[in-house]
Amino acid sequence: MTPDSRLLAAAYSHDAHMKSPGSTTALVEQVETAEHLFRGGFDGVVSVATAFEHAWLGLGVADQLDGEIVVVDGVVWRVPATGIPEVADPDLTVPFAISERRAAADVINEVDIPTGTTLDELGGMIDTDDSHCVTLRLEGTFTDVVLRSERRQTPPYRPIDEVLSPDSNQEVRFAFPRWEGVLVGYRFPDVKLGVSLPGLHLHGLSHDQRSGGHVREVTVDSGKLSWVLGRSTVTLPSDHFGHLLGAPAHHHGDIREGIMNGESHADLAQRFGMMASPDLD
Ligand SMILES: [Zn+2]
Repeated sequence: MTPDSRLLAAAYSHDAHMKSPGSTTALVEQVETAEHLFRGGFDGVVSVATAFEHAWLGLGVADQLDGEIVVVDGVVWRVPATGIPEVADPDLTVPFAISERRAAADVINEVDIPTGTTLDELGGMIDTDDSHCVTLRLEGTFTDVVLRSERRQTPPYRPIDEVLSPDSNQEVRFAFPRWEGVLVGYRFPDVKLGVSLPGLHLHGLSHDQRSGGHVREVTVDSGKLSWVLGRSTVTLPSDHFGHLLGAPAHHHGDIREGIMNGESHADLAQRFGMMASPDLD
């Protein structure tokens, strides 16, 4: 993490307003912007050990998109294209990660999820308005589960929607009529598109640790959801925005605002007379 990245982190710190006295909030730490990943920023920028140092729950992707990352109760798993989870090497790097610091004892909001609840309906089970970042852990038995991983990519990287498009044959799906395990993830507000992943985003790990990945489809048979409000920060370890922050200090506010508004690195670089990184835009 560069010292300059604190500028953005501080700017993005989301002030989760308490719904009731005594509510717990979790610290949600994101590495890199979603936009950077979507545009093909697949090279790892920090190690698993660093990105998930204090993580209780988390998700991400591995270097070169070589598997989905899911952190369950403090253990970091990588689910490669085989679909078989393995404990992630601490030296493995990740281009994008979201981690949550929380102690198990902190969980204060628990909801029994009705049978038949679908992925689309899950967000509505969280009793707080969707302007808040929320972290969740859902454990139980599920039906019609489709999990996903993807094949390792090599440069030059394509944007993620091309990689995951059906004709590129890079996405690998695993379907389970019945599945038991833990889903972890986040619900981010729709604002600040480009920085965070808006809406609900879940990764899963089965109880037998034989399957996992990004959750595409799921229906709850029986499950208990625990969630807390999150205070989110973003750090930018790679230098593609970091060098923009090398611009004169009086531009930092505008650059920060541009990042928040999802403005591309190339546009920002042009606007502030900096050289763009040719491999990123
Ligand atoms: Zn995912």
